[in-house]
Amino acid sequence: MAVLVCGGTGYIGSHVVAALIEQHEEVVIIDRMATGREKAVLGGKLYLGDLNDPKILDTVFKENEIEAVIHLAASSLVGESMTQPLAYYRNNVEGTLRLLEAMHKHRVDKIVFSSTAAVYGDPERIPIREADRKMPRNTYGETKLAVERMLHWAEQAHGIKYVILRYFNVAGAHDNGLIGEDHDPETHLIPLAIQAALEQRESMIIYGADYSTKDGTCVRDYIHVMDVAEAHLLAVNSLRNGGKSAVYNLGNSEGYTVKEVIEAVKKVTGREFPIQIAPRRQGDPAVLIASPDLIMEELNWYPKRGSLEKMVESAWEWHRTHPYGYAESKQGPWRGELLS
Ligand code: UDP
Repeated sequence: MAVLVCGGTGYIGSHVVAALIEQHEEVVIIDRMATGREKAVLGGKLYLGDLNDPKILDTVFKENEIEAVIHLAASSLVGESMTQPLAYYRNNVEGTLRLLEAMHKHRVDKIVFSSTAAVYGDPERIPIREADRKMPRNTYGETKLAVERMLHWAEQAHGIKYVILRYFNVAGAHDNGLIGEDHDPETHLIPLAIQAALEQRESMIIYGADYSTKDGTCVRDYIHVMDVAEAHLLAVNSLRNGGKSAVYNLGNSEGYTVKEVIEAVKKVTGREFPIQIAPRRQGDPAVLIASPDLIMEELNWYPKRGSLEKMVESAWEWHRTHPYGYAESKQGPWRGELLS
């Protein structure tokens, strides 16, 4: 029996696939490769296709004996979700609807779903607990919350069991040195700062230094991508063992400011780069820190690579050895030019 990974060629998906393969699981992947990279796939059987296409889903479920689904296929850029909300509903909500229809039709009743801290919006307290108020501030978070609700009702009617993982800020790379983070365009803090250290950008921009935090910049809870991948394995095994449907935060319960992250990048890389302060980025809450107590208690998950410096070292190792990501040379608008 195989585990179907939807979105297995993306940053987090490829690390989940690697972790499954290391556990000798049979892996089937479906990905439309809009943002994913074929080279990121270290094994398994890859189908190129869109979840919105019921035909390809039918083929995947007919040709393979799927036991459980891990669903990470989504559009995930907050800014883009505000300018293209309908595309986000189509990819994230309609895509999952089609997937659940296919699962129901083919009698597959276990799913692990990638959700996000963005479902909370501005948190009512820190650290955030799973039952706290959910009021997304952007379309991305809204579409993830819509799917969470869809899963709830699909379980009631069709018995599809789920584990929802709400990721906080995922960082780092696999320690095999073969896979890592490669977004185009890159929008995330740690890889952007590393690009500045590699002199691929002129400077690093801090979006807002006037928040009421210890140094005025936003606080986030960073978590290593391999710790995230391991949580998926535990979630699949929990469902296999008859575990109940559940929703878990996935974070380290420690917050770092944007300035602290940039300092960590400078320290780890041993390189200096200029910093500019810009206005706040739309939709950014000041502080997001998870309470991961529930997943620790119920799935016995704990982060093994929790220190910020270790995460930055891991990311640096990947970017240092893959300065153009999976590409072998400069290509695309940001790889060849200096961007500010
Ligand atoms: N950030 C920043 N400059 C950048 C990119 C990000 O100051 O070039 C900040 C961003 O405002 C947020 C934090 O870094 O407070 C983490 O942003 P990222 O996009 O990495 O993750 P998010 O928290 O949006 O999921």
